[in-house]
Amino acid sequence: MNNPSIFENPCPICKKKEATLLCDYVTEYHSQSIIFVNGPYAAFKAANEGPRLDTCDLPMCEECAKHITDGVDFCPHHYKLHQQVQLPDKLRKYQNRQKQQQRKEMYGTQS
Ligand SMILES: [Zn+2]
Ligand SMILES: [Zn+2]
Repeated sequence: MNNPSIFENPCPICKKKEATLLCDYVTEYHSQSIIFVNGPYAAFKAANEGPRLDTCDLPMCEECAKHITDGVDFCPHHYKLHQQVQLPDKLRKYQNRQKQQQRKEMYGTQS
């Protein structure tokens, strides 16, 4: 008999192995500063310090984890998403062209 409850931390995906990894997919970027209009500067500083992103952190076993690169693994759900986030090559050149144009508009007149 193979009882999954023998693991303290069973993998939620296959429920057969122990979860030893966490999904590293970034679910939220805190790129914008939190602003307190009338707050003291110390409070502003504290709120804007520390790691600026949240990751999925879904526990999973080594077999269910999708290895991306050294120290980075995604859960199957986010791996699928990750693949869709990337534009196919034939569309990416249009994306790059647009980005270059936007950069020129933003910084071009200043220097
Ligand atoms: Zn698993
Ligand atoms: Zn995930």
